Amino acid sequence: MTDNQLTIGVLALQGDYDAHRQTLNGLGVHTVLVRKPEELDGIDGLIIPGGESSTFLKFLEREGFLKQLRDFVSQKPTFGTCAGAILLAKEVMNPAQQSLGALDIAIQRNAYGRQIDSTIMNAATKLDGAPLEMVFIRAPRIERVGTKVEVLAQRENHPVLVKEGQILAATFHPELSDDTRVHELFLEMVRKAKTSADPAGPTRRKSKEQGQIQEDF
Ligand code: GLN
Repeated sequence: MTDNQLTIGVLALQGDYDAHRQTLNGLGVHTVLVRKPEELDGIDGLIIPGGESSTFLKFLEREGFLKQLRDFVSQKPTFGTCAGAILLAKEVMNPAQQSLGALDIAIQRNAYGRQIDSTIMNAATKLDGAPLEMVFIRAPRIERVGTKVEVLAQRENHPVLVKEGQILAATFHPELSDDTRVHELFLEMVRKAKTSADPAGPTRRKSKEQGQIQEDF
């Protein structure tokens, strides 16, 4: 599959951003590594990779990046994996830390123990097809989800893949598996958002002066 129309940014301040870039490139998607706030301009969606969420915050607190990222995630599709999911959460525990507050979940950092307890498992998901390989590395655990959050996969009764509106989050690392279904789901969300925002896209609205709203498909 190639997709020349989408540009996906990968936040590249630290962490495993390159694995996401490679997965997206393998799917034929144009990627941009985002290291400065102005590089958010012109991308259709953003991936916040795994890494260390507290370190991300240190970088983001410079030059007003955090505020601009908050604005971005409130408007455009964003996918967070592991530390990225922690940054997107409304509530962070162990310890409490600030976040982008874009996803109505409470998440506990390092909830499954130390690095040595990192694990790979296969589990059923709501995605089409076979069970999904999930790589957990010093993973956080989602302890609460809001009513608008859709749970797409679980580990021991705790959500590990969730979606709310234009936000997707995984507590595992789909970029480290060969299976690309989670990234494809995100690309589908980005495509949908882009089509509905694009005035030249399939949905067109007449101006108010014309007294009528028309949708043509
Ligand atoms: N333990 C990290 C944190 O708390 C997340 C680990 C990861 O992204 N693989 O931010």
